[in-house]
Amino acid sequence: MKFSELGLSDSLLKAIKRSGYEEATPIQEQTIPMVLKGQDVIGQAQTGTGKTAAFGLPIIEHVDTDNPNIQAIIISPTRELAIQTQEELFRLGKDKHVRVQVVYGGADIRRQIRNLKQHPQILVGTPGRLRDHLNRHTVKLDHIKTLVLDEADEMLNMGFLDDIEAIIDQTPADRQTLLFSATMPPEIKKIGVKFMTDPTMVRIKAKELTTDLVDQYYVKARDYEKFDIMTRLIDVQDPDLTIVFGRTKRRVDELSRGLVARGYNAAGIHGDLSQDRRTKIMKKFKHGELDILVATDVAARGLDISGVTHVYNYDIPSDPDSYVHRIGRTGRAGHHGVSLTFVTPNEMDYLREIEKLTRVRMLPLKPPTAEEAFKGQVASAFNDIDELISQDSTERYQEAAEKLLATHDATDLVAALLNEMTKEPASDVPVKITPERPLPRRNHRNGRSGHGYRGPRDHRHNNYGGHHRHNNGGRSRSRRHDNHGSNHSSRHAFNIRHRED
Ligand code: ADP
Ligand code: MG
Repeated sequence: MKFSELGLSDSLLKAIKRSGYEEATPIQEQTIPMVLKGQDVIGQAQTGTGKTAAFGLPIIEHVDTDNPNIQAIIISPTRELAIQTQEELFRLGKDKHVRVQVVYGGADIRRQIRNLKQHPQILVGTPGRLRDHLNRHTVKLDHIKTLVLDEADEMLNMGFLDDIEAIIDQTPADRQTLLFSATMPPEIKKIGVKFMTDPTMVRIKAKELTTDLVDQYYVKARDYEKFDIMTRLIDVQDPDLTIVFGRTKRRVDELSRGLVARGYNAAGIHGDLSQDRRTKIMKKFKHGELDILVATDVAARGLDISGVTHVYNYDIPSDPDSYVHRIGRTGRAGHHGVSLTFVTPNEMDYLREIEKLTRVRMLPLKPPTAEEAFKGQVASAFNDIDELISQDSTERYQEAAEKLLATHDATDLVAALLNEMTKEPASDVPVKITPERPLPRRNHRNGRSGHGYRGPRDHRHNNYGGHHRHNNGGRSRSRRHDNHGSNHSSRHAFNIRHRED
């Protein structure tokens, strides 16, 4: 459906057009008219389906720009998401000159207080910091028309219920309350009853959850085999931007260190790292200066990063909903993506549960051999060389090149270059990942339904879901990574923090 049919005014339609949105997503199409009417709405849809604009557009529409008070508040679970939401609302509200600000923990509160004096009309914030501001009376919520609980499931998981309640307590009783979430556990419905007035529930169904744009594979392997298989797969698939999900913080640390040790440009984020470090890593990843982001579910939740080509689930998630979130990090905005899930033999039931939810059959993938991995690296080096040669300004090396060619055999020269561009054999760099206990065996319930699956779309198993680098929009990055660089410092950068806020 077109945005122009949803009852939004021209300045918003202009901002939407500038954002490049052509059509409203299903969640937007269904919720925007209700929110415009002032109703309370509970909206559930997969991550990456445009929930921010679903509440953001009608909120901006309702803002009275002559009124200097905060008229809408959005509570967000993490700093990264809060910032992302503020940026999107600012962009959409720019033509209308709506002031949007963000507050979050781990940042200078005095500076936030100074900014708040510019009278934002929409405020985005994390629960703890918002409460802080309320206690200091630097934020007043008596003129709130709309309150949004964004990523509500995540906020509950993180134990923010008390903070949320304290914030809601300070808003007018006749406010509009909106709740957006990627999943709908029973506790969320309780929130709906407690804080909302006759809410309408909008659910975008499970079958639309995983996108057709993601090819979903799995590899059956024992826990101790997974790391070697993963690095071989990375060599063969040659991903552009990759997210690797690990089950625990320790896993994330060990995987990112192991990847760096093997010459990959990787870094990890999880809740125990300082906000500052997480922000730095995210920034590098978004700008393509980092090839592989290793993350826990919580740390990567809801982040909108364009250009992620591959998602590796180093550990299969125990909860099928988490799987949907994870692979929702790729296949975004019309781009093709690949997901790969490791599953130990006794975790197969979890895989089936996921397939039941997504209604897509994952394709089994045979682990590549060391030889195939090597060939993958060489192929990737070929691509890099093509890119390097197509870049200009190599003239000043002509003379030196001719000298080298006069003294060395051309094949030797190129072989040396390839040696330099590819990594050492993985077997030379042993990496030990502490075993995690596999998920407990599932009780066999009634098994699979036997229908409702979509068959595999094609049978290109043996191409390892490769990604063709020449599509990468000219982005050129060195594949090789200096092991002696600053990455060792990550070990010391843990700044134990309570939750995200
Ligand atoms: P969610 O909150 O559901 O995870 P986001 O609101 O973060 O999703 O949106 C994901 C991405 O989709 C963002 O980059 C956003 O700008 C973009 N987007 C939102 N609405 C549309 C639309 N109608 N058409 C195209 N892209 C959209
Ligand atoms: Mg969101």
